[in-house]
Amino acid sequence: MGSSAVLQFACPDCEETIYLDDGMRELLCEFGCIVCGAGVDERDFVLASGPANSA
Ligand SMILES: [Zn+2]
Repeated sequence: MGSSAVLQFACPDCEETIYLDDGMRELLCEFGCIVCGAGVDERDFVLASGPANSA
């Protein structure tokens, strides 16, 4: 089990990379980067390839 979509957010400001789920994505869009507080753009999110665990 465990096939929830995992997103990757790469902050253009502090260059931090954060892994998150879709719920957290909305939080970042609303409140900004959790590291530096910079504004977040939808395009800063990409689908992260899961951990090396594909069958
Ligand atoms: Zn940031």
